[in-house]
Amino acid sequence: MHFLAVYIPEEKINDIKNATDIVDVISETVVLKKSGKNFLGLCPFHSEKTPSFTVSPDKQIFYCFGCNAGGNVFSFLMKQEGISFPEAARMLARRYGIDIPVRTMSPEQKRRISEKESVLAINRQAMDFFRCALLENASGKKAMEYLLKRGISREIIDDFKLGYAPEGWDKLAIYFSKKKQPDGLVEKSGLIIPRKGKSGFYDRFRSRIIFPIFDISMQVIGFGGRIMDDSLPKYLNSPETPVYNKSRSLYGLHMAKGKCRETRTVFIVEGYFDLLALHQHGIQNSVATLGTSLTPEHVQILRGFIGENGRVVLVYDSDIAGIKAAQRSIEVFDKGYVDASIVVLPAGHDPDSYLLEFGAEPFTKLAAESKEIISFLIDCAVKKHLSACDAQAGGLSTKGKIHIISDMKVPLAAINDNVARSLYVKELAERIGIDETAVLEKVREVSVARRSDIARSAADYVLQNNGNRLERRIIAMMLQFTEILSEVDNRGLLNLFEDNILKSIGQFILKCKDRPGEPASELMTIIDDKDKKNIIASLVMGDDLWDRDGCLKLIAQFESSRYRHERKLLQEIKDAEERNDHELLLRLLKKKQMQAKNKIKNF
Ligand SMILES: [Zn+2]
Repeated sequence: MHFLAVYIPEEKINDIKNATDIVDVISETVVLKKSGKNFLGLCPFHSEKTPSFTVSPDKQIFYCFGCNAGGNVFSFLMKQEGISFPEAARMLARRYGIDIPVRTMSPEQKRRISEKESVLAINRQAMDFFRCALLENASGKKAMEYLLKRGISREIIDDFKLGYAPEGWDKLAIYFSKKKQPDGLVEKSGLIIPRKGKSGFYDRFRSRIIFPIFDISMQVIGFGGRIMDDSLPKYLNSPETPVYNKSRSLYGLHMAKGKCRETRTVFIVEGYFDLLALHQHGIQNSVATLGTSLTPEHVQILRGFIGENGRVVLVYDSDIAGIKAAQRSIEVFDKGYVDASIVVLPAGHDPDSYLLEFGAEPFTKLAAESKEIISFLIDCAVKKHLSACDAQAGGLSTKGKIHIISDMKVPLAAINDNVARSLYVKELAERIGIDETAVLEKVREVSVARRSDIARSAADYVLQNNGNRLERRIIAMMLQFTEILSEVDNRGLLNLFEDNILKSIGQFILKCKDRPGEPASELMTIIDDKDKKNIIASLVMGDDLWDRDGCLKLIAQFESSRYRHERKLLQEIKDAEERNDHELLLRLLKKKQMQAKNKIKNF
């Protein structure tokens, strides 16, 4: 059936399906709330502020009415983790303790099974190597001293599995060749680099403190390395690999997720040591971006943990770094609809040094007083353009005001929410003492260009809602009460359908009827057509209660309405004949012919 059956026996797939609960798996990354017989949450695959991501525990499927992403638990993991079907199946098998026999695979299949899994295994071995170098080797002593001197506790060093990449060019390369790991695979992990113009490889990380980067299922996806003296680069990260994508990865998330969920708040810092310091001071709901600015993917991942009204606090070590990050992040946040604010630490401090010197309490207080991103930018713009002589004169010069508006127009235009935007426009206007409409005018210049984009995406949201009401009910019944499928089949109900899309969905359902598993779940994974998927999801997720009697009543109602139609058509034909309306007659006869054709198919 699927190509994956080649890799994993079908009965194992069924074992996995039976053991898995989709709500369980999805709630690891998405905050779900019960709503009727389904669960609702914010879609992890697109940005939205009202939940349209629906999970049906009965049918074990999910569907987003905003972006049409949908499927079963396998499709969810494939989309969420960017993995293949066999990988998703193996992930679930591991989770639910189901054994997948390796011997059923040929050597060729084994080789192909997954580059990703091999790279993950290599990363795990490398982590052990780096750990060992830190804890057991003589050369690691100086690294351990360095860490302790920076105030990192032994507990944190162990919790985050810090390590050390020893001096020398190829210690790790030799370690892997002793382990008989193929060079090509180790190279794919980004840990070794081919020598230029010579054969062989050298280690990417040398004489560095090593920070393993975990994903939320505790797999090692990459590494960061920091030098201990003043040489450059100070930090080095794994390159993008089959398992590491920096715009989707956040350092420390595996340790932060529980507390993020509990507090509905997350602190975002830039550096490894900043992150470790926060955790060490009990502020575990913190993550670090890895040498990249915050991306929409990051925000979406975080939102899964903090929920729709969750709070994001960016922590920066200077106004300049803070302004840059704030400007970049408005769009990211506005699309992600989270309440974001920013903390700038006193001059000369980064989160690490601040916590070390003052402890957690003053930090928490600063965070509580953190400013919303736009207010922060307004403050900074005013500060920047308030020259010394303005301050003496007790206010801003005209030129200063013009500069401030010009600094703020792009960030203001980036706010999608109309109410929020007009409130901030008002705030700025009042702050610098000019008319609101003047600010609005400037903002509008910028937003005109953006508006056409927004209109286009809104059009995509319109739910396809055509199709006969009774026909829709029949399909809903077929999806929700599968016991009735033989009845539908025997009576040839689909042949009476006028809506071709609904009819073809019905035919799909009947085709799935003798297979094990839920037709709805099968359909969601088989059908690519966006409109069909949308119809199926909206029909299957409905809160109806079905029993056999109710179904038979609906079928009778549908049939009699169709026969009424037929009688009406016959009457119309008769009338047209009497009136000698040839054009109409021709059209009606064609219609009748179609109906007859359908009926013949039926028998
Ligand atoms: Zn969506």
